[in-house]
Amino acid sequence: MLLLSDLPTCPGLFYGSRSRDGVLSRMRIPGGILNVQQCRTIANLVDRYSTGYLQVTNRANLQIRELHSEIAPEVWQDLQELGLASRRVEVDPIRNMMASPTAGIDRQQLLDTRPLVSAWDNYLQTHPELSELSAKFSIGFDGGEAVSIRNLRNDILLAAERRSGNSEIVFRLYLKGDTGIIIEQSQCIAVLAALTGAYLEYTKKRPRIDGKKPRLRHLLADWGAESYLEKIEKNLPFALGRRSIELSERAIAPNGNLGIHRQRQSDFSYIGIALPLGKLESKQLRKLANLAQKIASGTLRLTPWQNLVISDIPNSEVSEVKQQIADLGLHSSATRLDSCLVACAGNSGCASAATDTQTHALEIVRDLAQKLTLDRSINIHFSGCEKSCAQHQPIDITLVGIQIQQKGETIAAYNIYAGRKDLPFGRQIFPAVSVAEMPRAIERMVRVYQRFREPQESLGEFCDRWAIDKLQKLLSPDNH
Ligand code: SF4
Repeated sequence: MLLLSDLPTCPGLFYGSRSRDGVLSRMRIPGGILNVQQCRTIANLVDRYSTGYLQVTNRANLQIRELHSEIAPEVWQDLQELGLASRRVEVDPIRNMMASPTAGIDRQQLLDTRPLVSAWDNYLQTHPELSELSAKFSIGFDGGEAVSIRNLRNDILLAAERRSGNSEIVFRLYLKGDTGIIIEQSQCIAVLAALTGAYLEYTKKRPRIDGKKPRLRHLLADWGAESYLEKIEKNLPFALGRRSIELSERAIAPNGNLGIHRQRQSDFSYIGIALPLGKLESKQLRKLANLAQKIASGTLRLTPWQNLVISDIPNSEVSEVKQQIADLGLHSSATRLDSCLVACAGNSGCASAATDTQTHALEIVRDLAQKLTLDRSINIHFSGCEKSCAQHQPIDITLVGIQIQQKGETIAAYNIYAGRKDLPFGRQIFPAVSVAEMPRAIERMVRVYQRFREPQESLGEFCDRWAIDKLQKLLSPDNH
């Protein structure tokens, strides 16, 4: 058994990783779907080994921080039996596969991706050699849901499309970008197996790049997507479909993982519950599981937006469930400042961080909540450095941590970005704003947006509409 002193850096359940606030252990939850018994077991685990809370990650995994001792082997065994731990220890740290949290219940979906998620999880569990791949290797399955994961970061994405002229649903393959390859549903696992097999071969030839296992992007840079696909085609019993199909415009519901929504099963609804920074107390998890068992199907779904969904609630029971969620100190509104708040681990969990993102995010949002009322959601992302692990595309407001000198002291500050125009963070609006000044700066941004926006315009779209010098002038403290 591994000792805490001998832990590797990529966290899994069997292999925690050391962070500044203790050992961090991560559970891979395929597709983010949990049943009642799994929830109760997780809550008990958190109470026994940690400080009473857990966190949903941006890949819909669960992580337990501040573990104070090793998890006993018999507990691991229980977790394996419940499907909460990999059957083989070696594959435990491989990244989660991502799917929409509304797979199977989304009214817009083309295809229920849950069987594919299970099939791919089973493939991973029976191919321990894939543990040689980078632990950051990631696969996403998009079934065409309104609550879409299509724009989230995955090395490989299979996105459902309807073949034009008939009702058949196929998948389009994305490797960072659209490859134009069309895959039949029955071919998906074989294609993924071939892609991972070729990636494994590449990893054997180049075991380390900059001291780390190579990422799929390194393979793509070396081989190019076309030659990668030609290599895998040689190992497949069928040719890859290169016929072009028309890509459909699919509506994506921003923050559709929050709030009350009717399911495709018309007698039922789901409720998306906001978890500020993905944090949930073990007692809240236990009570939500009890509620889901009593009133719904006993299913909780973790979302890549670090929230949680209770599905299959009879429409007549929705008000009761909403009330019980409120009794737990939680809510399902998308228009509170803490609903769409994201922060990376920050300096309590990551050596690269310049700032304590998690504490700053909660404090600043708590302060602003006293002063501002929203009528549409605003996404705010705190990043402890420019690597931006917690959010991979520009959103409404992005804050990137830095250290600055003020009156002879080194203090925490943030560069403030807004909008979606420039990668990776949007356009910089204010540089080097101290933590003390941050609430006022963000308050100005929200108030100006609320005063001058077009109907239906998000804060990011509003900022993108202005020339940067005019926007900075409009938001300047001198004008307020
Ligand atoms: S964004 Fe930077 S500080 Fe935050 S977790 Fe990633 S590496 Fe660490």
